[in-house]
Amino acid sequence: MSEQSVNLLDFDPPGLANYFADLGEKPFRSQQLLKWIYQQDIDDFDEMTNLSKALRGKLAEQAVVRLPEVAMDHKSDDGTRKFLFRLVDGNCIETVFIPESERGTLCVSSQVGCALNCSFCSTATQGFNRNLTVGEIIGQVLLAKRLLMADGWGERPVTNVVMMGMGEPLLNFDNVISAMRLMLDDQTFGLSKRRVTLSTSGVVPEIARLKEILPVSLAVSLHAANDDLRNELVPINKKYPIKELLDACRHYVAGDSKRRRVTFEYVMLDGVNDTDADARALLKLLKRVPSKMNLIPFNPFPHTQYNCSSQERIDRFRDILHRGGIVTVTRKTRGDDIDAACGQLAGDFKDRTRRRESRISTINISPNKVIRGSAG
Ligand code: SAH
Repeated sequence: MSEQSVNLLDFDPPGLANYFADLGEKPFRSQQLLKWIYQQDIDDFDEMTNLSKALRGKLAEQAVVRLPEVAMDHKSDDGTRKFLFRLVDGNCIETVFIPESERGTLCVSSQVGCALNCSFCSTATQGFNRNLTVGEIIGQVLLAKRLLMADGWGERPVTNVVMMGMGEPLLNFDNVISAMRLMLDDQTFGLSKRRVTLSTSGVVPEIARLKEILPVSLAVSLHAANDDLRNELVPINKKYPIKELLDACRHYVAGDSKRRRVTFEYVMLDGVNDTDADARALLKLLKRVPSKMNLIPFNPFPHTQYNCSSQERIDRFRDILHRGGIVTVTRKTRGDDIDAACGQLAGDFKDRTRRRESRISTINISPNKVIRGSAG
């Protein structure tokens, strides 16, 4: 199949229904196709037995199911799994699976690189390359699911998705929305909006649009309690300062019958943003926003100027927030032995020289090989 063929993974459910209408097919046929690909893990049109032979022939002529390729697959001591996926143009992106007792969370990338230049993030050191297509975003979920199933993780290894990998999802708005529509669709992964989280550095106008179009769970990378410091750490703050950002957050969860909260992420940087006064300033800021707080121990990467705050400091910071009435958890650092932790995703295959080779296990599932799921 040539690279010019239509990649069926690029269609969200309404888009696929339109494509089928153009082929002269009824919309429900597109739902059958989604089920084959996303639930039965069949990519070969010949095997899609409830589609007419004529339709299968048309699809074979002009369409393809194109997944990324597996460039690397690392397993961390704590069970975290980092995939390096190679895209059709040779770029690589990272996708991380974090298993917990009650759920399996997949951390998905939205861009190759990132344009935002946050000073404590290793993705920033790469610069920005391009937006991912819908198929490249949902392809991470589909391919990870298939690889995990093949590895004995059961029928539904991925129960939660966080758009917290490489890139700023709100700066690839349309493609991220379409990919999230696919995550939520009953014919595909059937995740609830609560189980899909979008993390943003604070692209204020797009937060309002997200609420209108697809109000999934929102996480916001705050990292500082005043504009001077936030301008330094998260430079997009110069465009959308803290007050505007928090107004957008308050609006995002306003009127929500399920009393949802915004999750704020706060990276703990030794001597930079981790004093008692910072914690108290945060309490003041967040008074009017229904919030949860995730403290993230800083994960180092080569040539960074920062260090992680001490455990005592993090605990004290957490206690101050907690006493002030904000549910605060310190995120466990997962997968740091394989650079799969927050802010360590770089995706540049050629630079990965400092890995411990013994941990690397590249698996041999070609993207086109069909792995059968359950019938149904
Ligand atoms: N661009 C989006 C999503 C990607 S970052 C955003 O900014 O939210 C995912 C999370 O990891 C963000 O909260 C980010 O601030 C955090 N992060 C980035 N670098 C980190 C590092 N070195 N250590 C710990 N957390 C980091």
